[in-house]
Amino acid sequence: MATESQTQTFIECENLVKIYKVADLEVVALQGLDLKIDAGEMMALVGPSGSGKSTLMNILGGLDTPTAGQVHVGEYNLLEMNRSEQVKYRRNEVGFVWQQTARNLLPYLTAQENVELPMALNGISSRERAARAKELLVLVGLGHRLDHRPDRLSGGEQQRVAIAVGMANRPSLLLADEPTGEVDSEAAEQIFKALHDFRDQFNVTIIIVTHDINVSTRVDRVVGMRDGRTSIEILRRRDTAGQTVSEDEFVILDRAGRLQLPQAFIDKLDLEERARVRLLEDHIGVWPDAQANANGDDPYSGRY
Ligand code: ADP
Repeated sequence: MATESQTQTFIECENLVKIYKVADLEVVALQGLDLKIDAGEMMALVGPSGSGKSTLMNILGGLDTPTAGQVHVGEYNLLEMNRSEQVKYRRNEVGFVWQQTARNLLPYLTAQENVELPMALNGISSRERAARAKELLVLVGLGHRLDHRPDRLSGGEQQRVAIAVGMANRPSLLLADEPTGEVDSEAAEQIFKALHDFRDQFNVTIIIVTHDINVSTRVDRVVGMRDGRTSIEILRRRDTAGQTVSEDEFVILDRAGRLQLPQAFIDKLDLEERARVRLLEDHIGVWPDAQANANGDDPYSGRY
């Protein structure tokens, strides 16, 4: 559970743009995305397919570079990293958990060997590797499965080993792409418990990409993406004991003062092209332009 002292910005994306060029076509995958994430925050990214979630994860993971904008993760400026800094960043700062277990685990290695592998690549001594791998596997509740190869583990167990692999080099950021996408709800609970335990123990910042909007009960914040930008946020406020006090849904106000209205509101009021806005005492009202047209003058003057 994040406390006051831990709430410092760890990730900051400003006006992030990613354009893919395919033959003569340009695909704008991120169109000026702004996002701040606190150190030790556990948050989920949700959004329809094609909204830019994977693109953002690949950029934050140092696997891809943005076309324009700014992105900082801790001390790293991801736009200005050279190749060797990129390798260092990927190896030390970020852990990945992919939806497909085959991408996370080597089938011919045991659970313990799989967790040791990233540490071996980082030059950690075999004694320390073994001790850390056991510690991580005990933490995900698999202390009794150290010598099992992936094919002798359930899908949920494989994902928990994958989380331990992702945490092997004690990254400050763990990126999980649909970690519960292929498991049942009980296994999903255990996967979320493992993620929570790591966050609490190591203060690792965790970003989970998911299609499951119900994930909001298990994370601090859900950020919705639409068309390459953040669109909504669901924020849970907790008391000092970690109990949820409130859960609120917000639309996001970007640095240029733009709001993205929920599609359902736009449809309900038939908003098109332009809308009227008025500053009222403690809020802003938005009306369809059609009302003004129908009355011939401003229907709102003198009403408030
Ligand atoms: P999501 O993860 O939310 O499904 P993506 O980040 O994969 O969204 O994709 C965002 C947009 O960028 C989509 O229109 C997708 O087709 C496009 N895109 C993603 N990766 C590539 C790529 N390597 N080459 C070309 N277009 C891409």
